[in-house]
Amino acid sequence: MTTPPSSFALTDAIVFTGESFVENHAVLVKNGHVADLVPMARRPVALPALSCANQILAPAYIDCQVNGGGNVLLNNQPTVQGVLHIAAAHRKTGTTRLLPTCISDTPDIMCTAQHAVREARKQDPSILGLHFEGPHLNPSLSGAHDSSLIRPISKEDMTHYCAEPGELFVITLSPEQVSPDQIHQLVKQGLIVSIGHCAASLEQVQAALDAGATNFTHIMNRMPPIQTRSPGVAVLALNDKKSYAGLIADGLHIHPELVRLIVRSKAEDRLYMVSDAVPPAGAETPLPYTMGGESVRPQPDGRCINDKGVITGAHHTLGECVPIAIRDIRLNPERVLRMASTIPAQFLGLGHSLGKILPGYQADIVALDHMFKAQTVWRDGVKVN
Ligand SMILES: [Zn+2]
Repeated sequence: MTTPPSSFALTDAIVFTGESFVENHAVLVKNGHVADLVPMARRPVALPALSCANQILAPAYIDCQVNGGGNVLLNNQPTVQGVLHIAAAHRKTGTTRLLPTCISDTPDIMCTAQHAVREARKQDPSILGLHFEGPHLNPSLSGAHDSSLIRPISKEDMTHYCAEPGELFVITLSPEQVSPDQIHQLVKQGLIVSIGHCAASLEQVQAALDAGATNFTHIMNRMPPIQTRSPGVAVLALNDKKSYAGLIADGLHIHPELVRLIVRSKAEDRLYMVSDAVPPAGAETPLPYTMGGESVRPQPDGRCINDKGVITGAHHTLGECVPIAIRDIRLNPERVLRMASTIPAQFLGLGHSLGKILPGYQADIVALDHMFKAQTVWRDGVKVN
C-alpha cells in the first residue's frame, strides 16, 4: 500500500459529486479534505496529479449494517482484532465507513462486542460506531437470529444502552418488545432507533416513530407481507416521508421487481443501501460459518445456505451491491451511488462531512471502472486500497 502526498489532484475521471455527474473536472484533495472541484484547464499545475482515466470518482460507501467480513462474524469474534479485520475486508470494495453489527445474542456477548467496537474505533476511523440488531425483536421474524435469544427489553438493558460522546449507536428493535416511552428514553440516551424484524400494527409502528424511531432496518426483509385491509410495517416504511430505510439491493434478498417498486415508492432522500454482510463478504476464499446457532455454507452466486437448505443471507459487500443494483436491477446509477453514500451519511447525521465530493467534505473517494467495480479507495485523502 502506498500513501499519496497529502495534497494532490485526481484527474481525467467523470466525477459523481453526490448530487450530479461532472465531466472534465479535477478533484483537488488537501489534508484529508476535498479542497475544490475545478475544470481540468484550471487545475493547479504544481499539484501532483493522479490520473483516473476511464474511471468514475464517487463518494466512498457507508454501510450501516455489517455483521461480518473476511470470514469473521462479529458475534463469533467480538474482539478488537475481529472488528478491524471486518472493516479491512469491506474497505477493498469501497466502503470507508461502517457500523459493525452484532445480531441477537447473550447480554455477555453483546456487551463484549460493544467494548470491542469502542476500542477498535480508537484505532480505525472507518468504524463510526455500533449497530445492535436485536435482541428485542419479534421472535416469529427472527430470520438468521437465534430465536431463543430474542427477548423483551429489560430495565438493565435500558441503563446499559447509552451512546458515548461522538459515537453512533443504532439499535434495531421491534415495537412489540419496546414501548414508545422506552424508545423515547433510548433516543434521549443518544441511540438511533430503527424498526425491524417486526410484525407490529401500523398504529404501533406509528407510535414508535412518534416516540423518536427514525429508521427501518432492511425494508421488506423480515416484515410480514402486505395485507389489503391491515397494511403493516412495510407499508408505513414505504409511505412515511420522514423516516429512513435501509435496503438490501443485492438481487438475492429481494426480487429485483420489488426493489424497483421500493425505490419508486420511498422518498428519494430517505432510502439507502446496506450490505447486511455475513462473514464470507470481502473474503478471498469464502468459508462456511456458524450464525444464529446454524452452520451456513456460502455459494458461488453470493447466497448463503444453512444445513436445512434455507437461504439465510448473502455475502456481498456494499461495493459489490452497487454494480448489481445498476446492472441487474437496472436502477439509475446516480440514485444507487447516492444510496450507497450520500443518504446513509445523512441518516447518520454526517451529511455535512461525508457522502459528497464537494469542497469541505472529507476526501472519502472510490474510483470505479465502467462496470462500477471499485479500483482505488481513499479515506480522508489517504489511499487505503
Ligand atoms: Zn436482520
